[in-house]
Amino acid sequence: MATPPDAGISAADIPQGLSGIRLEPDIPICQTDLPLDWYQEEFKTYAEEYLALADRKPETVLPWMDSYIRPALAEIGSDLVLLAHYYMGGEIVKLVERYGGMIADSYLLARQAVLHPEKRLFVESAVHFMAEAISLLAGPDQQVWITNPRSGCTMEMMAKEFMVAPAWERLHERYGDGIMVIAYMNTSGRIKALAGASGGAVCTSSNAGAIMSWARAQGRKILFVPDQHLGRNVAAEVGIPPDRIHLLAAGHEGGEIDAQRLESIDRAELILWGSFCGVHTVFLPEHVDFWRERGYRVVVHPECPREVVSVADAAGSTRFLWNHVMREVPDGTRVAVGTEGHFVRNLSEQARRRNIEVVHLADVPGGEQAGCGCATMSRNDPPHLVALLDLLRDGRGPDLNRVLPGDVVDEISGYRERLDPEGQSRVAADARKALEKMIEITEGSEPRTV
Ligand code: SF4
Repeated sequence: MATPPDAGISAADIPQGLSGIRLEPDIPICQTDLPLDWYQEEFKTYAEEYLALADRKPETVLPWMDSYIRPALAEIGSDLVLLAHYYMGGEIVKLVERYGGMIADSYLLARQAVLHPEKRLFVESAVHFMAEAISLLAGPDQQVWITNPRSGCTMEMMAKEFMVAPAWERLHERYGDGIMVIAYMNTSGRIKALAGASGGAVCTSSNAGAIMSWARAQGRKILFVPDQHLGRNVAAEVGIPPDRIHLLAAGHEGGEIDAQRLESIDRAELILWGSFCGVHTVFLPEHVDFWRERGYRVVVHPECPREVVSVADAAGSTRFLWNHVMREVPDGTRVAVGTEGHFVRNLSEQARRRNIEVVHLADVPGGEQAGCGCATMSRNDPPHLVALLDLLRDGRGPDLNRVLPGDVVDEISGYRERLDPEGQSRVAADARKALEKMIEITEGSEPRTV
């Protein structure tokens, strides 16, 4: 029997494998309507219908979505896996789970094609690098689609291959096999391929410590791309002293490495690319003090600055934060969470059912950016999901929404640069090496054949 909306629950009531996120009467489905010209041509009629609905409440939106998605699910059938990331705004995460889909963090998303070899079609509502990561591990008869290809990650946008390659050439020229690349999951397939070709690995926020420890044991310098804050936090975790860390700039400037800089890099063990996430860098140590003084436990994501992570009660990946609050802390706990705003809002709604109060860490008096969410991820809204599934049902899925290894999409114009089949195979093969190394280290076993 369904749990009534206002009923309390305990941690044990949340089914394993599900987020515990629920659709509740009267919640707004979408926080911000996108302008019509933000939709690709094929999606505009769906967007017009959506924008003409009376409101964005479940009672209004769900029948409209059902009228398209139910037939699509019936026709496409059990071949389909619907996916979304925890950061998705506009409650689309709840919709994806409602239609039998799954909400996951970037590590679990990346493994979906491997974990479900019997599935043929993966439709993802999240940022582009996450969909591309699935495609890198997908088999030849598995297809990956994204509901909005212009949904990019700002951290990744400052570390495109054409920005990182000049730095890598300079460093490789100087250190040869004495340097490797560790690529955070928030990178394009081309950067993951660079990591694989260098003998390095991919990492996520949940396994970055294990991957960095493995890399250190190789006795080689490490170029960590792209998040400088995660890099610093992991360095502290595995014992790399700050004076053995060299910070490069982000974007095109990162490739500007002159002789003087190289001398400085000679002394470094860890070279950090300078990207950062605008969502996770709004947090300050003062925010931690504010909530702690009021009796709150403080937990944060390791993409937050070191000064914040070092004073928090705990830090960990998206999955860690969700499980920590929903399953581990005692009922009645008060928790300030430092991560993406939509996630905190979803978590707050659900944790209330366990009598746990969740606040956004930056939600302090005068905190102007409190609740800041991942705006680019939120470019996947209900019309995008409806349109893509309806067009796929009809065999008219737009090629722009198909995701293949090595694809680079301009997040502003939507222009996509696609490699030829040989280039795709090369990117996929090298990136797989790096992803499989991560899986091998993380799972403690040999990688599965994919
Ligand atoms: S929250 Fe930040 S790091 Fe995560 S996808 Fe959005 S922009 Fe990228």
